[in-house]
Amino acid sequence: MNYLALTTIYERLESTAKRLEKIQVIAEFLKELPQKDLAPIVLLLQGRVFPIWDETKLGVASKLVLSAIAKATGAGKDAIMLQWKKTGDLGIAAQNVVEKKTQATLFSESLSVQKVFTNLKKLAQMQGSGATERKQELIAELLTSAKPQEARYIVRTILEDLRVGIGEGSLRDAIVWAYFDDKIDIQIKEKDNSLEIGNREEYNACVDAVQQAYNITNDFSVVAAIAKESGLKGLLGQELVVGKPIKVMLALKVNDAKEALERVGTPAQAEYKLDGFRIQIHKLKEKITLYTRRLEDVTAQFPDAVKTIAEQVKAESCILDAEVVGIDKKTGKYLPFQSISQRIKRKYNIDEVAKKFPVELNVFDLLYANGKNLIQQPFKERRAILEKTIKEKPKSIQLVRHIITEKEPDINSFFKQALKEGTEGLMIKNLESPYKPGARVGYMVKLKETMENLDLVITGAEWGEGKRSAWLSSFVISCMDEDGNFLEIGKVSTGFKEKEEEGLSFKEMTELLKPLIISEKNKEAKVKPAIILEVAYEEIQKSNTYPSGFALRFPRVVRLRSDERNVDDITPLNYIEELYHSQKM
Ligand code: AMP
Repeated sequence: MNYLALTTIYERLESTAKRLEKIQVIAEFLKELPQKDLAPIVLLLQGRVFPIWDETKLGVASKLVLSAIAKATGAGKDAIMLQWKKTGDLGIAAQNVVEKKTQATLFSESLSVQKVFTNLKKLAQMQGSGATERKQELIAELLTSAKPQEARYIVRTILEDLRVGIGEGSLRDAIVWAYFDDKIDIQIKEKDNSLEIGNREEYNACVDAVQQAYNITNDFSVVAAIAKESGLKGLLGQELVVGKPIKVMLALKVNDAKEALERVGTPAQAEYKLDGFRIQIHKLKEKITLYTRRLEDVTAQFPDAVKTIAEQVKAESCILDAEVVGIDKKTGKYLPFQSISQRIKRKYNIDEVAKKFPVELNVFDLLYANGKNLIQQPFKERRAILEKTIKEKPKSIQLVRHIITEKEPDINSFFKQALKEGTEGLMIKNLESPYKPGARVGYMVKLKETMENLDLVITGAEWGEGKRSAWLSSFVISCMDEDGNFLEIGKVSTGFKEKEEEGLSFKEMTELLKPLIISEKNKEAKVKPAIILEVAYEEIQKSNTYPSGFALRFPRVVRLRSDERNVDDITPLNYIEELYHSQKM
């Protein structure tokens, strides 16, 4: 197939923001594709050359692409740079300069999808001396034959920035529409662009099957080929492969023991919820590989864990689900997530950090053992095999602590015990359920102490606009670091009332803050830190904007705290960091 045909699809996807329309464009395109083009095209549609589980990177910097464009078109680098700056997109810049060149030369060889795909793949293999020049040549070779719009998408794919906006969900649905259309009878109503599905039950079953196959293979190019060739049966029959990571099962949040038991049913297994890092362990004879839940291979960072697994895991081949937790060398107590986060990031002096920050593997599930896929087996059976598979060794590897119960009080006291031992709380699991890769289903729920509100001090404020112009109406809020410095974490203007009788009002805030103003510039005032607010939020995020390094999503004032709290008692930065990590999904 011509690459040009694919770029026409890219253009259509780029030209609409409507999800259903995008799905339809992809579905129609996939339907007509011959099997041999399917795999590369499904990857290229995602702007990829390798599936997500494969960590191979193209490793091409934009500077190198710029040189390649110059080489292929004869255009000056400055001219390309100018276009790039103007459009903010090196792909468009490439398209524009190729356009000019094409007018001059007219003839060029037509590019096939295979050719583009093969050349891009080769980029990843080039390493060592002379790699830069050879990469440049490969890219230039493609661009020399490229039509203007082809140049745009080749460049974007190389830079891993395709910008056509199709997510995993859209691609999954497109595969369903393309290959199961006859069963489900799908129509989009022109009028309001809504979806009409003839057979909803069948549709859901198809979506689930495609999703399930994707959660195991992590590769839509494989999933599309199976859907086309062997339909639902093929999708549902996807096998685990030891050494290839799959998506892990996720948990729902519950608020208390009662809700937990209602969700998962009784009897249930309650386990410690350890505050570490989720690790998927693959063992195939001597070969041991560790993956994070984002499918990154972190084997090299944990030589100590690998040694433990080699010695203590009795299966010839297996896939284990575990939490790797930092422990205090002296006391053997669990450490908060930060200590282990150092190990994940570490690329050098690994043995040294491993000694400094020892870890313990807490294994809680077994998905595969000695050639047998266990994910369809009930959890209690998987756990029974797991118990026979792991030879526990204190401070190195153990089965996660658990109880089996039907009673709320048991859960509550186990929860207390778990918190006392420095864990985050409990995971509560259904004993009969299968393991659902990638799914956030009620087979396991988490019980933590609820997300805590923060006590933050106001260090700045802004005068309002229009009818609020007499009031300070937006407030800069800060936490405190270990040295007592106030560090901004965001601004809050939600939760205050217009009318005094309704609660904490802008008027009251203005009266409180006015005497504390240190300096003013335009509408912004700096204030002496004295007024404390209790602030709720949706999520703590990392931030480059605020000096604390964190920002709050949807901050909302809950109440004034100045009466109950001293400035020294506001939420410390390191606690916010802990909260940030404990909310990681
Ligand atoms: P959360 O990150 O708060 O959504 O909680 C889910 C995470 O808890 C999982 O991804 C694991 O990393 C972690 N975890 C700790 N202990 C367990 C356990 N016993 N079973 C399952 N997950 C656990």
